[in-house]
Amino acid sequence: MTSPTSVEHVSPAPGGAPADGSWTDATVLAADHGLVFHSWSAQGRLPDFVVAGASGCRVWNHAGRTWLDFSSQLVNTNLGHQHPAVVAAIQEQAGLLATIAPATANATRAAAASKILAHAPAGFTKVFFTNGGADANENAIRMARVHTGRDKVVSAYRSYHGNTAAAVVATGDWRRVPNEYARGHVHAFGPYLYRSEFWATTQGEESARALEHLERVVQSEGAASIAAILLETVPGTAGVLVPPPGYLRGVRQIADRYGIVLILDEVMAGFGRTGSWFAFEDHDVVPDLVTFAKGVNSGYVPAGGVLICDAIARTFDDQVFPGGLTYSGHPLAMAAIVATITAMEDERVVENAARIGAEVIGPALRELAAANPLVGEVRGTGVFWAIELVADRGTREPVPPAVMARVRALCLERGLLPFTADNRVHVVPPCVITAQEAHEGLAILRSVLDDVAAQAP
Ligand code: PLP
Repeated sequence: MTSPTSVEHVSPAPGGAPADGSWTDATVLAADHGLVFHSWSAQGRLPDFVVAGASGCRVWNHAGRTWLDFSSQLVNTNLGHQHPAVVAAIQEQAGLLATIAPATANATRAAAASKILAHAPAGFTKVFFTNGGADANENAIRMARVHTGRDKVVSAYRSYHGNTAAAVVATGDWRRVPNEYARGHVHAFGPYLYRSEFWATTQGEESARALEHLERVVQSEGAASIAAILLETVPGTAGVLVPPPGYLRGVRQIADRYGIVLILDEVMAGFGRTGSWFAFEDHDVVPDLVTFAKGVNSGYVPAGGVLICDAIARTFDDQVFPGGLTYSGHPLAMAAIVATITAMEDERVVENAARIGAEVIGPALRELAAANPLVGEVRGTGVFWAIELVADRGTREPVPPAVMARVRALCLERGLLPFTADNRVHVVPPCVITAQEAHEGLAILRSVLDDVAAQAP
């Protein structure tokens, strides 16, 4: 842990860096809020949370106050913060070759592709590298369109696929975003028994009716016009909506019946989060294209990509694939991928995520659901869980934003960095979390939710 700095004598210009280069939480906040235009934020209402350093599952500020990271940032630090082998690999690669154009053959890039393919089912033969999750989805959609010669993409209303042009219109959750590129994008409802669109009362009914609905959408849009069905294997940002058994196999059958490419977005669910290398393994289904990012190198250097099945890869043997960015397959990101996957294998990180989910998080959250009247439902797998908070368990009305703000503030006050979205707390710690750390975080969460429930009107 770094020692706290003491620079009371430094008075930066409003919004400027301290003249001697040292920082306090106050000077960071003044400079950051003064100078940095933040994503997904109202610039006048930015949170006052500062992180100066991190290690494993903990982050700390300049004053040396620590928080247990139950968010994995944006659900990406699957290997925890500052893993020494990954940091060293990035440093070594920087000394060897810090940048190279995407079309140039390079050993680290080939090694990264080989590491990823080693964990993919037979039939996947190539990896296309991107800078993150959104451009992975953009490129997967483009591959499907060129491969099929069709245009439309069906995705789920409750989904997040990224914030670039095609990715954001494929996203169902953010339809308030300007829709100028929405050509050819169609949405359908997926299974979500707790708030069923299909009046279902069992997972079996929910799955069967969601599949019927999806097939009706495909037929109504004209199956011959649909290039791809794009789904998150487990919709994450929308609430960790683990699909019922058989649903994804049913989607696979619909895709096959109509010659549609099945793209599964594993940007959040992949690389250990669900307790498997890929979440689709849990559902006994194999897609045609898989998009990934985040956990592939724990986000140490921006990276993502598309795993491509042989049939689609061969489409581009003699035909140029019209996609790629200057930094696609950046050597520092590739070195981080190789080191991350190696560390995950050596330290059995995926197995740890499965065990912590089954033995610690799942039982604790089910106990919480039984005891706390604010909790409507808990659901999840591995280190990928959501607690849905409701004002009334009968009507399932979501708690108002003020309650979520109280939950968040109390968690931070008690040393837990939570992930909150709408009326939910997502329990998404790094996959390397120990049982002791998981118990510690869950105890804080439980105390917070008990206190908020006791205060609730
Ligand atoms: N797909 C999913 C399932 C995601 O959760 C995200 C980001 O949270 C994205 C795509 C977009 O990834 P990125 O922010 O790296 O572009």
